[in-house]
Amino acid sequence: MLFFKDVYFVTSIILLFLLVCGTVDCLFKKSRFSKLSASLQETVIISVVFFLAAMLTKHKLASEILYGFFLGSLDFTMYVALYFVYHLDGTKKISPLYKKRIYFCLGLATIDSLINCTNLFHHLYFSIKPVYLNDVLFCWAPSYTPFMHIHLFVMYLIAFYTLILLYRIICSVSKIYRHSFISLSVFYILVLLLNGCYVSVFRNLYLDFSLIFYELMAFIAYIFIIYIMPVRIKNNLFSIAGQDLSDGILCFDNQMRCIYKNTLGEKIYKDDEQSNTWVNQYFEKPEDFIRTTEVFEIDGEMHFFKLEFCRIKDKAQKFSGYYFKLNDRTNEVKNLEQAQYRATHDELTGVYNRSSFFKEVERILKSEPDDPRYLIGTDIKHFKLLNDLFGTQFADNILKQQVAMLYKANYPGCIYGRISADRFAMLIPKKYFNPKYAIENTSKIKDIAKGVNFNLRFFVGVYEISDSHESVNSMWNKVCLAIKHNDNENNVLCFYDTSLMNKLIEEKNVISAFEYALKQNQFCMFVQPQIDSSTQKCIGGEILTRWRDVDGGYRQPSSFIPILEEAGLIFKLDYYMWELAVKKLHEWKSIPSLQNLNLSVNISVKDFYYGDLYKIFTELVERYEVSPAKLHLEITESMIIGDKHFYRSILDQLKSYGFIIEMDDFGSGYSSLNALKEMNMDVLKIDMGFLKKSENEVRGRIIIDAIVKMAKDLGMRIISEGVETSMQIDFLKKCGVDVFQGFYYSKPLPIADFEKKFAEDKK
Ligand code: C2E
Ligand code: CA
Ligand code: CA
Repeated sequence: MLFFKDVYFVTSIILLFLLVCGTVDCLFKKSRFSKLSASLQETVIISVVFFLAAMLTKHKLASEILYGFFLGSLDFTMYVALYFVYHLDGTKKISPLYKKRIYFCLGLATIDSLINCTNLFHHLYFSIKPVYLNDVLFCWAPSYTPFMHIHLFVMYLIAFYTLILLYRIICSVSKIYRHSFISLSVFYILVLLLNGCYVSVFRNLYLDFSLIFYELMAFIAYIFIIYIMPVRIKNNLFSIAGQDLSDGILCFDNQMRCIYKNTLGEKIYKDDEQSNTWVNQYFEKPEDFIRTTEVFEIDGEMHFFKLEFCRIKDKAQKFSGYYFKLNDRTNEVKNLEQAQYRATHDELTGVYNRSSFFKEVERILKSEPDDPRYLIGTDIKHFKLLNDLFGTQFADNILKQQVAMLYKANYPGCIYGRISADRFAMLIPKKYFNPKYAIENTSKIKDIAKGVNFNLRFFVGVYEISDSHESVNSMWNKVCLAIKHNDNENNVLCFYDTSLMNKLIEEKNVISAFEYALKQNQFCMFVQPQIDSSTQKCIGGEILTRWRDVDGGYRQPSSFIPILEEAGLIFKLDYYMWELAVKKLHEWKSIPSLQNLNLSVNISVKDFYYGDLYKIFTELVERYEVSPAKLHLEITESMIIGDKHFYRSILDQLKSYGFIIEMDDFGSGYSSLNALKEMNMDVLKIDMGFLKKSENEVRGRIIIDAIVKMAKDLGMRIISEGVETSMQIDFLKKCGVDVFQGFYYSKPLPIADFEKKFAEDKK
């Protein structure tokens, strides 16, 4: 018995010492749990101290008081355990009922504790008895009355609530915490069972062994809550968080065993031979940190990773393992590739865009400068019109067909590009270029447009690369030049030759000389008279520009008007001519023989974009006090492509102001009838092509007859241009043409000659 007592005391005191240490440790820690753990340990320490003191004292009264305090402190130990568990519930969703129960338990524990502490006076729970061992007083021990069951009931009730709370927590917390709470519950039940055993079976031992388990419980709870649980939770939380990281994580221990891999890591590292080979190659490298890229196949798709490999070292710089971080950059790489593709290729047809095509040509010529090659360009005449008449979808389809045609010449070393809206280019080794195929293939594209009754004219410019150091831009310009100066409309293939360069130089000369010539008044007004068909009298004339050379000769408009139009300079010349014409009309106002004459001026379609035509013409006639009806404005019908509403609104304004609007070259374009429908004009000038002598002369006449009838029905006057013979005049008169203009009457004359001739005429 003495031996047991010694063992019991030594064990209790060791545990007591541990509890004191734990309490001190907890008091230094600032967390909520450390405070809870400290209070649990403190109450257990108090209980143990009371019990040991009660057992050790030989004084009956002191022993009785100490036993009372011991039993009273046990109430609070149980309560603090309950309170401890209550605060472990991290969900904080405990219903108010639980809170009330906890207060109830506190009340019960307090009352029971008071009864225990005051047992000395009423002996309700126990009386004190001496225990002798070999006739020597061993200790004073309590002899419990049946009322002691009240104390036990209070204790077990609190324990029961504690277990309910633990159960609640176990059910509600995440899996990662559950394990810890189950262990805690199991341990608590064990302590309760041991206590139950002591109370019912081993009470006569006098030594309360369950108290040792209380001590153990408080100490284990302390270790568990302060040290084990946080680490386990941290690990669990990290691994959960790591699972869903967008990066792949792989950790290897110092034995090169994989100790952790998250979801993406699992897909990359499969622990097979192949996987081990690639991780080993990193392990064998001397570097502590490597940053590189790797490609892995995941679910049958190639993925691009940014890889970071790190040799892990602890604080003491001792090697502890390896770590891989794999950042999936597949989307980024794909986006980059797509962006690169978009930046270098044409969206519609998929061939290179202009800059990439040029770069690629340059690269090829640099790498194989001696292989003879052709640079080829394709062009669709009036592509804009095609867009306008049949819609972008149709036009896009033609472009795609064009590329398909180019692809037919898919020989090694061929590359393709879209240089501008309707111009495609191809670089082809000379040995593969077959002009016959080129013509045949282009004629197939023409067939697509047959369905819509449009004469698709398609040209292929060919430039033989003679100097591989020449800039690609210059080569391309030569291809364009070949297309542009194609004299024969039936010629599909247009080869570049040096004479074309002379034409280009001529164009450049026109452009550079233009401004100076304008200032020097080198542009002169020629007038071609217009004759009334019924009276055969001159009613005015059309102003046609001539450029006076230094040698006194005159340049025809065909040699400079198209160049100025293309260079965006035509507006300057036109405005100059319009002003001359209005000035002339002003001058004529005071000359009776000329005051009734009209003057027609030509308007280039580009003029619409360089100035407000309504404002310009109204200002001109107002400034020179000329009636707008005297100024006739000629617009070429076929030029009106695109935004018809835009042209129409300007022409309508001019017309309602009083100008006479003439539709020039009617019948020469593709959509004459359309233009007639859309534009509300006063005069229709029949294109001279209908009068030209040809096999189809008779048909031309039938058409003229029909046009005249139609125009009359639309309330328009009719002028016939290019009248050269009296037979034509007879015919046109019969048809009902109102006005004649042509060489039969006069060629365009210098204005002074015109004035002289027709002023005399009137006399
Ligand atoms: P257009 O407006 O159709 O002018 C009629 C053209 O036909 C003139 O050519 C005239 O000389 C020519 N012509 C007149 N009668 C006959 C004939 O009986 N037989 C033949 N074979 N030809 C005849 P031109 O003067 O060379 O003008 C050519 C074109 O240049 C004009 O065609 C007009 O579109 C344009 N043009 C002339 N001057 C100007 C101008 O100041 N501004 C603008 N924008 N264009 C102008
Ligand atoms: Ca004209
Ligand atoms: Ca004309």
